Amino acid sequence: LAKPLTGRVAVVTGASSGIGAASAEHLAGLGARVAVLARRTDRLDELVSRIEKHGGTALAIAVDVTDAAAVRSAAGRVAAELGDTDLLFNNAGVMLPAPVEELAVDQWTRQIDLNITGLMNVIGAFTPQLVKAAGERGVADLINTSSAAARTVFPTFAVYSGTKAYVTHLSRHLRVELGAKNVRVSALEPGIVGTELSDHVTDEGALQWLEGTKETMEWLTPQDIAETVGFIAALPPRANLQQITIMPTRQP
Ligand code: NDP
Repeated sequence: LAKPLTGRVAVVTGASSGIGAASAEHLAGLGARVAVLARRTDRLDELVSRIEKHGGTALAIAVDVTDAAAVRSAAGRVAAELGDTDLLFNNAGVMLPAPVEELAVDQWTRQIDLNITGLMNVIGAFTPQLVKAAGERGVADLINTSSAAARTVFPTFAVYSGTKAYVTHLSRHLRVELGAKNVRVSALEPGIVGTELSDHVTDEGALQWLEGTKETMEWLTPQDIAETVGFIAALPPRANLQQITIMPTRQP
């Protein structure tokens, strides 16, 4: 049976764990050649080995996406070694909830630097390839990881939610701008997914809230999101899933 993403060149950021790792492996299984980007090289190397073991093609690139020059050079490597990117899963992100009055300015900055500036660095470096690939192959995809937090109010998540509202609204604009060139843009908004995202949270109240949700619902898995990403990319070129909110069934 032909694999739906054969011939496509995918780039996944935040690929060393959670949603990104599962998605990279899934996209490779659907036939795409995949470049996996993150900072932890040991994790990326293990991921590449797993993909290759199953007959796929993958390239690990260690990069901090908050470093614009490093992202540009990663984009050059992808084009040289795999060809022009036609599927960009712009997914690296960090969530550090805390009451605003704690003035955790360092945590505000980390979220804004990665979830907004890092996301833009990746868009800036790869958009030329997406446009070129769409011109030559008929379609390309830019899938940005937003969050259900973009539309819901969770106490103490103000800065994180703000960064994700940015991602959703940015995606809506870019869809109109780039759609004219056959580049589809999607905002992916998951509810709670079991990943390493909460490992970085230091605020006790937020940690307790997160832990408590496990008693009322079964969290999504990274695989659930990976399959959604694969579905978006495998749609016929005329169809663009603009915005996908995928929630745990019992999450309000
Ligand atoms: P993880 O913490 O498991 O993954 C985050 C990824 O981002 C890691 O691969 C990490 O790799 C990478 N990353 C962090 N900082 C940088 C950086 N400066 N440069 C490059 N890569 C970086 O969490 P998730 O898989 O859950 O998160 C993925 C995305 O999903 C995020 O955007 C998150 O906001 C979003 N999301 C998650 C939800 C959830 O409930 N889990 C719900 C809704 C949205 P490394 O440290 O190796 O660089």
